[in-house]
Amino acid sequence: MTDTPTTSRHVILFSGGMDSVLAAYSNPEADLLFVGTDTKQSFLEKESAGGVAFRMGRRLYYRHTNMPAPVGSNAYVANRNLRFVLEAIDLARFLHRKTPTGTPLPRIVVVLGALKDDRVPDKTPEAFEAMGELLSLIGDDTVRVMSPFHHLTKGQMLAEILADKRRVEEVTALLRASVSCYKLTENAAFCGCGDCPSCFRKAVALLSEGISCVSWFEENPMRSTTAEGYRTRLEDGTLEAQGYELDRIRRMTAAFILAGSK
Ligand SMILES: [Zn+2]
Repeated sequence: MTDTPTTSRHVILFSGGMDSVLAAYSNPEADLLFVGTDTKQSFLEKESAGGVAFRMGRRLYYRHTNMPAPVGSNAYVANRNLRFVLEAIDLARFLHRKTPTGTPLPRIVVVLGALKDDRVPDKTPEAFEAMGELLSLIGDDTVRVMSPFHHLTKGQMLAEILADKRRVEEVTALLRASVSCYKLTENAAFCGCGDCPSCFRKAVALLSEGISCVSWFEENPMRSTTAEGYRTRLEDGTLEAQGYELDRIRRMTAAFILAGSK
């Protein structure tokens, strides 16, 4: 069964970060949902996500979930994405109530901006498929959980969207407004700190696609402590030995050259 707007209701889990912004951009009919938690980071993300959605001319729905504390040193929160998916299903059901009585609820498609290199256990294609099967089995709805970008790295995702050159200006403006930073500050003049792994990945994807973005960040993302760490591991072959995607290595090299730091 193909998922079209008439046979399914799409809800995109929208954080306002690059991946979810591009997922929303490539799915103009979908509803957008931001799920917040009780952290300062979440409040700041909510503001940015609202700003990007407004810029896209899209309505953004908000939900709140109680998130348990991260486990271990890697800040991984168990079942985090599953909680988001449950909120998305709830929103789809809520919105369906506005349609004429008796209209059957179409298949619910929950969309996340997950990428090929996402390592979180509940953000893999296998996890998404299992979630869809389980939620369809135990609930009243037919549910599919998916990411349109699961076969792509961040840079490849951007390349695919920008294959149509007419989109470059609009997409660049959206990504300038998008925020995916681990150390989000209240300084709205910047799209991120420039010194966390998330800012680094975003900068690499943009630079490797020829988009100048260094000034978007509070600190030059290709000269930060994080960047230096990656550069060392790039040059001594550690990244390749660790099984990094060749596409990511190639793009990282290009980004360092383009940012003039090598
Ligand atoms: Zn950052």
